Amino acid sequence: MSGRTLRPRVLVVGGGPGGYVAAIRAGQLGLETVLVEAGRPGGTCLTRGCIPSKAIIHAADLFAETSRAAAQGGHLGIRLAAPPTLDLAATMRWKDGIVDRLSNGVTALLRRAQVTVLKGWASFADAKSCTVETAEGPVKIEPEHVILATGSLPVELPSLPFGGDVLSSTEALALTELPRTLAVVGAGYIGLELGIAFAKLGVRVALVEAAERILPLYDELLTRPVLDWLHAHDVELHLQARAGGRSARGLDIETPLGDRFAIPAEKILVTVGRKPNTQGWGLETMAIEMDGRFIKVDERCATSSRNVWAIGDVTGEPMLAHRASAQGEMVAEIIAGKRRRFDPVAIPAICFTEPEIVTVGVERADENHVVGQFPFMANGRALSMEAGDSGGFVRTVAEKGSGRIVGLQAVGRHVSELASGFVALIEMGATLEDVAGMIHAHPTLGEAVHESALKALGHAIHV
Ligand SMILES: Cc1cc2nc3c(=O)[nH]c(=O)nc-3n(C[C@H](O)[C@H](O)[C@H](O)COP(=O)(O)OP(=O)(O)OC[C@H]3O[C@@H](n4cnc5c(N)ncnc54)[C@H](O)[C@@H]3O)c2cc1C
Repeated sequence: MSGRTLRPRVLVVGGGPGGYVAAIRAGQLGLETVLVEAGRPGGTCLTRGCIPSKAIIHAADLFAETSRAAAQGGHLGIRLAAPPTLDLAATMRWKDGIVDRLSNGVTALLRRAQVTVLKGWASFADAKSCTVETAEGPVKIEPEHVILATGSLPVELPSLPFGGDVLSSTEALALTELPRTLAVVGAGYIGLELGIAFAKLGVRVALVEAAERILPLYDELLTRPVLDWLHAHDVELHLQARAGGRSARGLDIETPLGDRFAIPAEKILVTVGRKPNTQGWGLETMAIEMDGRFIKVDERCATSSRNVWAIGDVTGEPMLAHRASAQGEMVAEIIAGKRRRFDPVAIPAICFTEPEIVTVGVERADENHVVGQFPFMANGRALSMEAGDSGGFVRTVAEKGSGRIVGLQAVGRHVSELASGFVALIEMGATLEDVAGMIHAHPTLGEAVHESALKALGHAIHV
């Protein structure tokens, strides 16, 4: 293919959950499509983000549970003859196996949709002239439509450049030996998810956060059970603290009172945010208007340059895989002639912390809302799977008067799986009365949704 010029209908740059979904949908719709990806199909999400992190979190859970059974000499009547041991290299091989399986699956789906996949780095000379550096040499592409899905990259701190013992989430998810001590800079969802997983694997973890509290973007009530877990499991927490550089002892930090000291850290994981990947591929040649650091798009994900579209993390918050995929599917349909616009009522967000947090729609109620909250302590299923005592709850926020549900949140073990139900209720415009009238299966965590709606109506049964 090298030396040739391809003139497809659609060129997608980036094979993450935005780009590969756009390419598959475009292919399904009969549009001749080329997808360029420098790394592996699946992008950040599949190869160094959502999936590998959740695999490590699962392994860490299992290790913590079995360690507890061994240490407590019969937790739930389960005894282990000896404490479990961890072969982290084997855990990582298992995680890599899942990534391989999914990435190969994406390749197969792209093939089935008749998408041409080019492995290499794409760069643009202008909005419609792209060259891809492949192993076989450069390939020129002059498409009718371009979909930019180049994603995002971890933000580096000047005082702690990545490399050696200073890790981004990518390196943390590829460690093959556990450090004894780990300092995590940034207590957003990525820092907390990974910090908690490493703590469960037996690492001494310290979190350093510049804001006043963990998960500063979330409502405080939702984050409290996570804070309690950190305290109960001796995870050191330095709030309103600034990370300095690396020192002989570990990580230098400065507290709000101006005290400076080092916290022990064989490794330092920096998770202070992600930035759109806008450099090194010729964006500046494409006459595209920016919105701060992000590519500016309208409600159809169109950029200011004709027939150039942008989706996913490169277009702004929330930088989440499911938003990228939804935008990708939509843009492919628009190019194929369908009338679509990106106008979700709510985009769910989940923290796979301990316990988990799910939030959809309005999180902070005001005088226009009525709120019902139901604790997992009073839910049979939660108690029967040890998910009842973590301070978890489900909260329903509805409009006063109409009773229309505009927000649903939960914090508790295993609540991530409630997210789809939450989105469905809000997107379908359900009211408190609708939920009150539904029969929820018993015993399930979902019964807490029913009860929280009853509570908002003033007649909860189980609390
Ligand atoms: C540790 C971690 C955990 C996460 N957990 C979750 C989670 O639980 N749920 C969730 O929704 N989100 C999660 N995210 C965020 C999620 O990964 C991103 O929102 C999502 O991957 C964005 O998709 P995207 O398609 O926009 O870009 P990306 O997935 O970043 O893909 C962009 C791709 O473009 C390629 N590329 C870029 N430029 C070029 C070029 N010039 N030529 C060729 N290829 C190029 C890159 O190699 C990359 O593969 C997590 C992220 C991290 C880091």
